[in-house]
Amino acid sequence: MDTLRIDRRVVLVTGAASGIGHAIARACAAEGATVHLADVSDSVHEAAGKVTAAGSGSVTSHVCDVTDPDAVRTLVDDVTAASGRLDVAFLNAGINGVPSLLQPGGAIDELPFAAWRRVMDVNLDGLFHCLQHCARVMKEQRSGSIVVTASTAGLRAEPRVSYPYVASKAAVVGLVRQASLELARFGVRVNALAPGPVVTNIGGPGPRPEAAVAAWEDSIPMRRWGRPDDITGAALLLASDDSSWMTGGVHVVDGGASALTQIPSTVLPAPAP
Ligand code: NAD
Repeated sequence: MDTLRIDRRVVLVTGAASGIGHAIARACAAEGATVHLADVSDSVHEAAGKVTAAGSGSVTSHVCDVTDPDAVRTLVDDVTAASGRLDVAFLNAGINGVPSLLQPGGAIDELPFAAWRRVMDVNLDGLFHCLQHCARVMKEQRSGSIVVTASTAGLRAEPRVSYPYVASKAAVVGLVRQASLELARFGVRVNALAPGPVVTNIGGPGPRPEAAVAAWEDSIPMRRWGRPDDITGAALLLASDDSSWMTGGVHVVDGGASALTQIPSTVLPAPAP
């Protein structure tokens, strides 16, 4: 039992109905944590059923849109009231685009402002609301670990994703660092996880085009996309006391892609005609 790092901790996961958030919720349950899943999709209730089966602690599910500050306040208050505290918050909800409006690698002069706003609204403003309310509770209890899902796309230019995604994830890193500075003296740690490409529903359900998959693999030394379960080990480390002197960090989990100083020319945009 002493290998369980977050046994009996109270954990909130946003964006928990799918992908990385769902895998993190399952891993936390398997470690004996009480897990509260939140998502804008009502499939979060079904997802909670799978998380319950994975663990021994209690599990609840909440429909919550992180872009709504009142809904986020209610979520954090409900979780804290139900469990008496909030030890760990995985702030993970995010989108990579607006399919009808936004092309990965699209031109800035053709970018609809509505698409820019929507991605910023979820990835940055939504994180702000969650961070604000989790910090309120954790400052009061003088402990907590907040783990934010950023992206390697926030750490360098990335031709295969959109402007607002790159910009929002870069801003997420700034928000994490600034919050870690303020919250350290209250015993609250704040870290970012920066995954590389992971197979989830973020690009829409169903298989990705083979050429797109191969183009990404060309820039990953481990020669494969990540799976959601590839992210959970680092997530549990940052949640647990094993990382008690780690705060304000950005922790890359990307099969080695960030070790390359250059993106291979095969994935750079072609010269302009
Ligand atoms: P996913 O689409 O499988 O899961 C994201 C979840 O967030 C979904 O269940 C979705 O319903 C939820 N969500 C979206 N908007 C929301 C909102 N307004 N309020 C509440 N929940 C909302 O995608 P994923 O890849 O697991 O993404 C999780 C996080 O990981 C995101 O922040 C994403 O930017 C980040 N990330 C993903 C990758 C990747 O390649 N998949 C790489 C780096 C970072």
